[in-house]
Amino acid sequence: MIRLFDTHCHLDLPELAIDAQLWAQQAVAAGVRHILVPAVSPKRWDVQHELQRFLAQQVPQLHIHLALGVHPWWHRDVTPQAWPQLEQRLQGAQYAAVGECGLDFSLDWLAESERETERQRQTEVFRAQVEIAQALHKPLVLHHRKSQPELLAVLKQSRFCHGGILHAFSGSQAQAKAFLDLGFKLGIGGTISYARAEKTRHTVSKLPLDAFVLETDAPSMPLFGYQGQLNHPAMTQRVFACFCELRSEEPQLIAQQLWRNSCLALKLPY
Ligand SMILES: [Zn+2]
Repeated sequence: MIRLFDTHCHLDLPELAIDAQLWAQQAVAAGVRHILVPAVSPKRWDVQHELQRFLAQQVPQLHIHLALGVHPWWHRDVTPQAWPQLEQRLQGAQYAAVGECGLDFSLDWLAESERETERQRQTEVFRAQVEIAQALHKPLVLHHRKSQPELLAVLKQSRFCHGGILHAFSGSQAQAKAFLDLGFKLGIGGTISYARAEKTRHTVSKLPLDAFVLETDAPSMPLFGYQGQLNHPAMTQRVFACFCELRSEEPQLIAQQLWRNSCLALKLPY
């Protein structure tokens, strides 16, 4: 039996949360057994918890894990209490990781004069989370866009050594290696279903199997053929099928290794 782990699904966001039970049941029917729900804003930390509790009762075949943190798009939600609260919550055992955190330097939407301040603020918010994760021995769930060198610089300056997942990986083997060397797994999603993602598809076909985990990034990132539709966690099965097409190993073996990788990256028993 193939068991799948969706390592990045925003099931708590309103688009999906309204039918969370249905999406969860469909995911189970598609072989998904674990889902990591990463945080975006401190304002939603309680909502994630409620979702976890609700689904534990309604769909007990599915395990919901949580990452807690602040996504770079939501850094304006950070109040002075946010960091002490984050530390306090993370000291409970129920959180797998810190995140989704990182740097998003795709800033065309912002006036040029404001971009440097934005980059600095994102970097401060990211660094604070890396330091908390390092102190509490938690892995990170990383968001990146046009920011891989800057992300690596913060991780190295903070001497971060608890690994995690580089979510929505796209890029070359050299780019991948920099993160693998720091103990991260590469989160592979619907991107690989697009022929134009040639470089990423090539990287997926070439690196050792222990480099990867799967994700949907639902409700975003629909696969090829599903553009314009809501993405959801059962689609992990299709991401897995696309992944298998790029590899020479047997699907059963691939599934086992990806499961193991996901648990290792999030320090979960397997
Ligand atoms: Zn995300």
